[in-house]
Order: sequence, then structure tokens, then C-alpha cells
Amino acid sequence: MKERCSEEGIVALLLKSGIRELEPTISYEGGPGFHSPLNLAEGECPNLNELLESLAEKGALRRSRIGSLPSCPSCHSFRLMVRFTCPVCGSTNVRRVDAIAHLPCGFVAPAEDFSVGDSLRCPNCGKALRAMGVDYNRLSGVVICEDCGKISLSPKLLFECADCGTRSSENELMLRPIYKYEVLREKLLAMRPLADEVARILRESGLEVISSREIIGISGIAHRFSLSVKGEEGEHLIDVAQGDSPVSEDRVLSLFGKMMDTYLNETTLVAVPKASEGAKVLAKSFNINLIEATSPEEAASKISDHLSSRGLSGRGEGVERERRKIINAADGRA
Ligand SMILES: [Zn+2]
Ligand SMILES: [Zn+2]
Ligand SMILES: [Zn+2]
Repeated sequence: MKERCSEEGIVALLLKSGIRELEPTISYEGGPGFHSPLNLAEGECPNLNELLESLAEKGALRRSRIGSLPSCPSCHSFRLMVRFTCPVCGSTNVRRVDAIAHLPCGFVAPAEDFSVGDSLRCPNCGKALRAMGVDYNRLSGVVICEDCGKISLSPKLLFECADCGTRSSENELMLRPIYKYEVLREKLLAMRPLADEVARILRESGLEVISSREIIGISGIAHRFSLSVKGEEGEHLIDVAQGDSPVSEDRVLSLFGKMMDTYLNETTLVAVPKASEGAKVLAKSFNINLIEATSPEEAASKISDHLSSRGLSGRGEGVERERRKIINAADGRA
């Protein structure tokens, strides 16, 4: 699962899913996150946000700000608990009440303090209350402090960090941006590890492909080929070379060296996007099938064409054919 949680893995996932835009979901635990839009479990890729940021820096995702989320100024956590406090003394020992304000004397207290039997009387000046809106008002849902006894229309809000315990007022909180990402498919396509992508496409077309195939030569040296395609007739080995300038004779020579040491009489060299004229001539004389391709799709399709037009050849072709015959004969008897 670790492979999925890498830049390459995320690039492949974005391309496969066809998602055009990544909108975050917001959670108490982690703030804005992109796991669910990408169908990933949290534990599967804990550093997903960093990977997306890095893809945005490389120009493969276009970031735009869609909001902000307050976080703890000390530890940056999003896990904040709201606390109601008394604006007069700062105590958190407050409760909500319905209160009455007696207009002639200005006294404010919980409504129950004014009740005397069925009537209302001000406990401060002793006068009987007459009519609401005339000599008194009702204030519903105000806050009374159990410590200092003062009534306030609204509490002062404090935000306590569930992680480090820091208490911050509204303007002390940090405001962290929330982004969404637009997926720039063309840019992502250009970021794929080319040989892997060619291998993936060939596999999807039903071929048996081994990436980064190692073969020990008669010299005892281990030679690595980008890809190996296995078919009825044996194994075909392929090197993929990519460069800003045309792939040169050196790459052809290096592949030829590997062919000599491993008894291969035919291979393929994929040059992305181009090969030099010299490389083409040399490849022909070494029986190297040189393919030029500008995309993994083009490379895969040219490889398939080559394999089906010429059949697979290489070391052990005859052995493999004989082995097949034996297997087929055994199946026929069973
Ligand atoms: Zn108070
Ligand atoms: Zn009064
Ligand atoms: Zn904190």
C-alpha cells in the first residue's frame, strides 16, 4: 500500500480515477483532507496533503483557495473546543437564563428573582412591574455568571485546543486556508514514469509483462532491461530511453552489449521522443527494433504491433516452444 502513497502513486491514482477536481472534506481530526475524494483510507496515506501540495508546486495541480479554517496558534491543530466565558470576569462558570430588565431602576436579573406569587416585583427597588415594553423587558437566552453574578447579553467565546490546551480568543486564532485542486491531466501524463506506464498499458492489453527485468549474462554481470514481454514464443526484452535531446548511439551500444552477454538476437529500444539518425542506423545493423514514441500509449501500441507482426523471438524461443508442446500434449491426454 506504501506505493500508492507516493508522488508516483498519487499521479497514477489521479489519472486512473479521471477526477478533474479535488474538493476537500473537512474533519474535526485533521481539518481539510482529500482521502475520501480519492477513495483512500487515512492510514493508507498519512502524508497525502503534502504530496498534493508538492504536485501543485510542480504545476500538475492548480490550487485555489475556497475558504479558511481556524486553528490553534500554538500547535496548529484544528481540534478546537468552544468555551463560553463571562465577559466581565472571564469565568467559564456561566449558564443561560431568561432575564428581566426593570427599566425605571435599570436592574437586570433572572426572571425567577422577580416572581412573587402570581405577580412580578423588582427585587432591587421593590416596585411592582406593570406591563412588558412599558416598564420592563424580557431578555431570553442571556448568560449569567455564577462567579460574579453579572448578566451579559452574549458570552465571550474562547477556543480551547483539544491537543495542547491553549486557550485563544477569536482574534488570536490562526486562520489556515482551505484549498481545492484542479487536476491538470496533461501535466500529470508527462510526470508518469514512462517504462511503468508502458508496462501497465501492455498488461491491460493482456500481455505478460515484467518491469525492470534482470538477466544474468554469461560474464556473470546482472543486466537490467526496462521491460520484458512474455508470449507464446518466449520473452522479448525492451529498453526505454528518454531524453530532451534525441536518444544517441550510446544507448543502442549499451543495449547491444547486454544482448551479446545474454545471447539475445533481437530486442527493442523505445526512444522518447526521438532517436538520432546515427542511432537508427546502428540499431538496424544490430537487429534492435528502434521505436520512437512521444507517449506511453504510442510506445505500447508500437511494441504490440512489432510483437504481433514478427512474433516473439529471443533466447530460449525453441526451448519455450518445445515446453509448450509438452504441456499441451499432457493437457490433451488428461
Ligand atoms: Zn463573571
Ligand atoms: Zn427596579
Ligand atoms: Zn494547540
